[in-house]
Amino acid sequence: MARYTGPVCRLCRRENTKLFLKGDRCFTDKCSFERRSYPPGQHGPTQRREKYSDYRIQLREKQKVKRIYGILEKQFRIYYERAERMKGITGTNLLILLERRLDNVVYRLGFGSSRKQARQWVRHGHFLVNGRKVDIPSYQVDVGDVIEVREKSRSIPQLLEAMQTIERRGIPEWLDLDKDKFRGVIKGLPTRESIDIPIQEQLIVEFYSK
Ligand code: SF4
Repeated sequence: MARYTGPVCRLCRRENTKLFLKGDRCFTDKCSFERRSYPPGQHGPTQRREKYSDYRIQLREKQKVKRIYGILEKQFRIYYERAERMKGITGTNLLILLERRLDNVVYRLGFGSSRKQARQWVRHGHFLVNGRKVDIPSYQVDVGDVIEVREKSRSIPQLLEAMQTIERRGIPEWLDLDKDKFRGVIKGLPTRESIDIPIQEQLIVEFYSK
């Protein structure tokens, strides 16, 4: 499946929830979903929504998570299979694996205004993990890892701009940020409670269990 390149706010309206795909704008009253929370193609909030089958509800939940983290189907399936093999609850394991992606951590630490931008920064080699350059967005961080912006990348205007908005977003409890040193530390692994995305992951498990 090709990566979606159309207007991203449309995806939030399609999934009927905020997916936070557009950086700081998502946290302001400029958010399109706040103004038009009905699906694309409909012309007003009075339109009735279709009644969805169980299958479709489960499918949409999977699509939502894929869109939030910017993952394609094949890779998502690999994450799911890995989550299934882990101890614990498969749905929670899946979200934890996604949260531990380096691009997500860069976003969570405020070094990117969106996951998409964070992924791009990582690909361009702007970050060090434990002192070594890592340019793989899917890299899984672990407890104790230190994520740093490379010295020569610390003056990139968009990166500095993104860092100014982190207070508005907040940092999850499993991360520690030292803004002055452009550095973040993984204090512990994410828990389900610390993952603030509006997802019912059990529906994804039901989708793949058919
Ligand atoms: Fe979604 Fe963000 Fe656009 Fe709002 S601004 S509709 S949250 S992508």
